[in-house]
Amino acid sequence: MGGDTYHKMASLNQEYPTFAEHPTGKQITKIHLDRLRQFTDGGQYRQQGLLAKLYPEVASGPDAVKLSVYSPPDLSRPTFKEATSNTFKDTKVGESFGPSWSTHWFKIHITIPERLLKYKQLEFVWDAGNEGMIWTKDGEVVHGLTGNGERTEWILPEEFKDGKEHMFYIEMACNGMFGNAPGGDSIQPPDPNRYFQLHTAQIHAVNLDARALYFDFWEIGDAAREFPSDSQQAHEALQVGNRIMDTFIAGNGSDDAIRKCREVAKEYLGKKVDSHEVYSTDKQALVTGIGYCHIDTCWLWPFAETKRKVARSWSNQLDLMDRYPELRFCCSQAQQYKWLEQNYPSLFDRVKRSIKEGKFQPIGGSWVEHDTNLPSGESLVRQFLYGQRYFESRFGVRCKTFWLPDTFGYSTQLPQLCRLAGMTRFLTQKLSWNNINKFPHTTFNWVALDNSQVICHMPPSETYTAEANFGDLKRSISQHQSLDQDHTSLLVFGKGDGGGGPTYQHLEKLRRCRGISDTVGLLPRVKLGDSADDFFERLEKRVNDGLELATWYGELYFELHRGTYTTQANNKKNNRLAENMLRDVEYLATMATIKNGFGEHSAYKYPKEDIDNMWEDVLLCQFHDCLPGSSIEMCYRDSDEIYARVFKTGERLISSALEELGFDQESEYTVAINTLPWARTEVINRPEPDLCVWNHPGRMRCILGTHKECTVSETSPGVFSLKNSQYALEISNGAITSLIDLDLERELIPKNSKAAQLVIYDDKPLYWQAWDVEVYHLRSRQELPASKSYISSTNPLRVSVTIETPISEKSHAKTVISLPAAAGSPSAIEINTTVTWHETMKFLKVEFPVDIVNTEASYETQFGIVRRPTHYNTSWDMARFEVCGHKWADLSEATYGVSILNDSKYGFAVAGNVMRLSLLRSPKAPDANADMGTHEMRYAIFPHKGGLGTPTVRKAIEFNQPVKIVKGSSEEAKALLRSFEILGADNLVLDTIKRGEDDDDVSRGEIARRTGKSVIVRIYDALGGKARGTLWWGKLGVKSVKRVNLLEDELEDLSGGIGECALGYEKGKGLSIEVRAFEVLSLRLEF
Ligand SMILES: [Zn+2]
Repeated sequence: MGGDTYHKMASLNQEYPTFAEHPTGKQITKIHLDRLRQFTDGGQYRQQGLLAKLYPEVASGPDAVKLSVYSPPDLSRPTFKEATSNTFKDTKVGESFGPSWSTHWFKIHITIPERLLKYKQLEFVWDAGNEGMIWTKDGEVVHGLTGNGERTEWILPEEFKDGKEHMFYIEMACNGMFGNAPGGDSIQPPDPNRYFQLHTAQIHAVNLDARALYFDFWEIGDAAREFPSDSQQAHEALQVGNRIMDTFIAGNGSDDAIRKCREVAKEYLGKKVDSHEVYSTDKQALVTGIGYCHIDTCWLWPFAETKRKVARSWSNQLDLMDRYPELRFCCSQAQQYKWLEQNYPSLFDRVKRSIKEGKFQPIGGSWVEHDTNLPSGESLVRQFLYGQRYFESRFGVRCKTFWLPDTFGYSTQLPQLCRLAGMTRFLTQKLSWNNINKFPHTTFNWVALDNSQVICHMPPSETYTAEANFGDLKRSISQHQSLDQDHTSLLVFGKGDGGGGPTYQHLEKLRRCRGISDTVGLLPRVKLGDSADDFFERLEKRVNDGLELATWYGELYFELHRGTYTTQANNKKNNRLAENMLRDVEYLATMATIKNGFGEHSAYKYPKEDIDNMWEDVLLCQFHDCLPGSSIEMCYRDSDEIYARVFKTGERLISSALEELGFDQESEYTVAINTLPWARTEVINRPEPDLCVWNHPGRMRCILGTHKECTVSETSPGVFSLKNSQYALEISNGAITSLIDLDLERELIPKNSKAAQLVIYDDKPLYWQAWDVEVYHLRSRQELPASKSYISSTNPLRVSVTIETPISEKSHAKTVISLPAAAGSPSAIEINTTVTWHETMKFLKVEFPVDIVNTEASYETQFGIVRRPTHYNTSWDMARFEVCGHKWADLSEATYGVSILNDSKYGFAVAGNVMRLSLLRSPKAPDANADMGTHEMRYAIFPHKGGLGTPTVRKAIEFNQPVKIVKGSSEEAKALLRSFEILGADNLVLDTIKRGEDDDDVSRGEIARRTGKSVIVRIYDALGGKARGTLWWGKLGVKSVKRVNLLEDELEDLSGGIGECALGYEKGKGLSIEVRAFEVLSLRLEF
């Protein structure tokens, strides 16, 4: 050992004090943790803490802020120009404004007092507890305001700091962020008479260091509280937090002390948290933060208010992006962009510029964030077609990610439709609300009926309106359910519904969270500045490099909000009728343009603009709070008007197309047009007599009935026997007690059971009235006995028995059960029910017990079938006690089955052998009058030999698409309307026939025209079987055929498959096609 070392050790020992100076205790963690709250608490120590330092000076009163107001009459929402041309009268802080939904324009004259001029940042603070929008004096939208402390400040421009008076406007909307519910429960029906007191109109000087320290301390406090108590990082945060408070106290809260406190904070947060530079380290981030503002297109407020919410929210984001370069804001719903374009053109231009810079990011590819349970297959197609075309036409981009965080269940065919609309990714979130089973994946491959897949991600923070808190980042790992495959995730942050999206608070907090990850670790590292697409791109790359994500096949059934298949019945019926009508409009208009040589022989033109308007209206009403029935009453008065407009336009377009096709209202001939691409035979209802229609491929021959085959008799009081050539039916005490298939001598109704029996349930869900029906409602089933039944038609083509059923003192039902002549094709027992409905929290259904055994039932969904259990074996099976279906549900054995058809319903259940159709609900929130009034509905029992097959598919479509009785006929039209049919593959449905979007005689010029004329046809396999068939077009001059996607991009030239073929004795041409199981195939026929 050398002498030097010995000396060093000796001196070291001397430095360590020999004697204890004073006692030092172990720090009591809990107390020092609780102490942290004092510093930023608004309670008794407010004046001693940091909050008192945030705004060193405030100016208010008429010398600084002078107010005058103009209140437009009748709840109108005038434009800037209209409003500001009126006379404004003086007003002041303390005044109240209302009633609910009214608008008030304020002129604000502001003079910054001398004493405030020295501050770097001055903010105008406005709070009346309602929403508002700031406009410059020249009519530019500047900023949105939310009220109730949510977003109340606007940074005053530099040019206001000249000691002179400046002027701007505020457009006040008398509704809160969540409408106008009274009390604290926002889903209660709105109070029409709310008034809002303007309580704050001030200029605040901001102490920017104090504000920065506030956020430093917030995140350090969260770290101390939320990091695991056995982690070093939690202890360190506790020490730093306490030292910040000690430093503040030692310096008496001075500006200098605040600066010193920040230095202490940076030991924990790192040095870069004051700018976006904090994100510029090259460390791998796990969480991609993306700003978003979930604006429900209508919900607790009407569409008209949404238009303003959009302008308020998006202007906020443009403003925030200037100050926070890391902010990326993604925004879905083409409809909202279109509203902005129409109503706020200069703001729209600013959005457009920001999109070019990559900051404002269109996403989603759909017209609105729509419901996916209820719209038809073609509606889902159009959501994407209209959405993507809008984004492409205005911004030159298409979306790659289908973005639907908030919807009430997910159709099994969405992955296929997404892929066909140019999207490979899907983001959603709502499944985390399941109230029975926890969905097991965060990132997974979602697989459609036809095996198409998309990458699906559900943010593990389990929100699409995150407040960007420490806990959200923590949960990005702790709630991540796919960590074994991939540990990255998205954090979707920002206030929705008028909250205006991300706030500066969110961005300040996230900078500090990132600082914590890089400085002390443990917290999942967040990155801002990327897009949601960047996140998915990285994920896709890992998948391409061999990462195997878990798969989920079939529908993503949402275990909540099952009442939304039924609530607001009238709105749902309108949707179905509009979808059916649009099919006919497009088909007939297409045939009309073919007839006139695509404009060569007459002035008729494909009514593209009218059709676009009809579709945009229908797509709008499919918004995820509108069609499901979860909006306030005002929204349904709006949608009633919208649908009325759609039907009016549709009628006009159908008559002009028919006229062009040669039908003539003045003619003495009556014909029935079958717009479906297969032959049909049925008894149709006209007032009298019933008419029997044979629609063989000619599709227009009508023959007055000669089939006198139906009989009805009352065999004993209240017992009726109905018969046609297929079925013998017994109606006893108002319900079907026997239904025999005469051919097989098979009884379909179990002994002592009653089919077509109305039943009522008590319907009080846990909270979300319009949305939910809860499993326990099944315990309250009560049969509704009929009071009277009688024969109402003895027509040999259709016999009927009418049943009257009292429901309560206020409500009653009248049901007509009819048996039509079979007339050469399988017949259905048709039931027309009229219900006068004035119930409170009751649920009306109709039951069909059938003598069929199967553990699975089938339900029609968009372009296919969903099979669901008829038992409650597991909690996953039981959760599906109420499910969504479209035109039919079916319970079949191998040799025989029964389908229930309907014309406007979506809620079904099959439990054991009892099939149930949900008819009407009566929730009282958020619409106190939901479904009150009279409803007409049709449904049918369709027994069939063999398992589920083409007869059900076709009968249900026929049930929804009645033949059109028109006057006149022409040979040419007759031949033309025989043109499209599929031969040799009955499972294929030719669903849509329309003109090509960009054909030169159709295009509205929004996207580049293509030369030539074309017809788009969409075909799908309805039963789940690969099939080969021929698409027949007879004598039409089709030159070539291309397979296209939903956006009508060319995928493949199929012209080689064109050949001669025959439809009966008729020779013509067609295309040989092959369709995979449940595939949606779109073709462009070029003329
Ligand atoms: Zn929503």
